[in-house]
Amino acid sequence: VSSDAKARLRVLLAGPRGFCAGVDRAIRVVEEAIRRYGAPVYVRHEIVHNRTVVENLEAQGAIFVEELDEVPEDGHVVFSAHGVPKAVPAEAQRRNLLYLDATCPLVSKVHREAERHFAGGGPDARHILMIGHAGHPEVVGTMGQLPKGAVTLINDADEARRVEPEDPTRLAFITQTTLSVDDTAEVVDILRERFPLIEGPKREDICYATTNRQEAVKAIAAESDLLIVIGAPNSSNSQRLREVAERSGARRALLVPKLSELDWSALEGVSTIGITAGASAPESLVQEMLNALSRRYELQIEERIVKEESVIFRLPAPLGG
Ligand code: SF4
Repeated sequence: VSSDAKARLRVLLAGPRGFCAGVDRAIRVVEEAIRRYGAPVYVRHEIVHNRTVVENLEAQGAIFVEELDEVPEDGHVVFSAHGVPKAVPAEAQRRNLLYLDATCPLVSKVHREAERHFAGGGPDARHILMIGHAGHPEVVGTMGQLPKGAVTLINDADEARRVEPEDPTRLAFITQTTLSVDDTAEVVDILRERFPLIEGPKREDICYATTNRQEAVKAIAAESDLLIVIGAPNSSNSQRLREVAERSGARRALLVPKLSELDWSALEGVSTIGITAGASAPESLVQEMLNALSRRYELQIEERIVKEESVIFRLPAPLGG
């Protein structure tokens, strides 16, 4: 097919998109651990929610496990970027495993906030309402910083309206880092109205990367006939990007883990396509998608960058950070 025969397609690329500093650090932790200690290095849970990342690390010598009992006695093990309940490092210590913690520092910050509100369970303790999604590993990890019963999970606005804490005057809230900025603002408003004495972070705990990626999607959504979010179905921030795209005016928004899973019929009748990627999706997947599009269409690519990012996190101390 000569290029003259190709239809035109306008591509709006959201910026920032893709890897955040926490994901970048978590991947470097695994790579550096393999380099220092040799393969295999065990990783508890998907290091970040992306199959491509996981497969690349497997090829370098990482072995992914769900629980510590799958790690042999003298094994090295890395905990994922989402964070882990306190019981996990305790168990690793008990078994004398050498562990490295790739928990994103912005998740660890929320862990410390939770501990501060709990105040050791003494007279100053506040009961904590955690805004987040049940079952997500970050939520499991954050709630697992404190004894059972210290934290109540609030999934949505409805639950915020219904929750009946024992002492409404001694409350605090924290949030998952990868939530929808707009939905969370609504939940926080409800909590503050119902419980005026509730303590919380100045802004919610949603991280810079989640916030910026949602802003970037808002900037291109209304012009996009189709908006593709490259990301995994179990990636919370990627799912939120898809929802934000739809609510901000994209005619259709799809979560596509990688090129081979793109349903090309979705492009029928599309003249402008928006593309972004979740915080755990490598840029190579975006480039692969653009290359495939350029084989079928005459592309006119426009990148819209709403914010420059320069956040870099150091490696944990045992790896020289
Ligand atoms: Fe850290 Fe935010 Fe990235 Fe999660 S999305 S790893 S909290 S920077």
